[in-house]
Amino acid sequence: MGIDRRSFLKIAGLSAVLGVGGGSVADLLVNKEVEAGEAVLTEKGLHGKRWAMVVNVKKCSEHKDCNKCIEACHTAHNVPNFHNPKDEVKWIWKEDYEHAFPDHQNEEYQAERLKEAPFILMCNHCDHPPCVRVCPTKATFRRPDGIVAMDYHRCIGCRFCMAACPYGSRSFNWRDPRPFIEKVNNQFPTRMRGVVEKCNFCVERLAQGLGPACVEACPHGCLVFGDLEDPESAVRKVLMENVTIRRKPELGTMPSVFYIV
Ligand code: SF4
Repeated sequence: MGIDRRSFLKIAGLSAVLGVGGGSVADLLVNKEVEAGEAVLTEKGLHGKRWAMVVNVKKCSEHKDCNKCIEACHTAHNVPNFHNPKDEVKWIWKEDYEHAFPDHQNEEYQAERLKEAPFILMCNHCDHPPCVRVCPTKATFRRPDGIVAMDYHRCIGCRFCMAACPYGSRSFNWRDPRPFIEKVNNQFPTRMRGVVEKCNFCVERLAQGLGPACVEACPHGCLVFGDLEDPESAVRKVLMENVTIRRKPELGTMPSVFYIV
């Protein structure tokens, strides 16, 4: 890996203490639609009780060619680009309605309006994540703040988690990804062949008091991130004001990603 895990943790810790690259909580609140509220910023970063994301598909539909959130995420996390769908590794991607919400297909009056809309998909950081249950090495685990995280060093590449995830949110490195990273970010570890990866809700940025890279990069305010347990948070306000849907609710995984349609 580009830097080992111990070095990465040191960098993350130092960055948090020194505020490297960090904006203030006020910046986050005012500019990035990341609500701190009870999600307290300490010298050890931004803390919440259950992090969640709201994707405003209505807004996103007005800017169909915009890929800034995807570019920002993949650049920040050293996601390789193999230029080959067979080997594709993705943390956040666009999908059409039919594939994102196959269970909603009988609602034809809605499908007509939504079939051209871009749906930004990522790991749902499920409350009841089946991927965690099946991992034999505990390489993937649910943190107390709801983030389903990965320890790449513990991943043995069995891909049980990929089979268990009903959302296709995980990717496998069939090849060494490092030569296919366009510009390596030395603040985040690279992975190796045989390892699974996925969106991490930017845990490394939260540790520095920053919101997710995708939220920060979106120029149209289509993404809102915050603490679902905080009644004053931006996500709670947005959820109060809008009807949202989640992917495959019938499975009982309780996704933490919501879609305003
Ligand atoms: Fe696990 Fe898939 Fe849920 Fe993410 S979306 S927590 S990978 S089951």
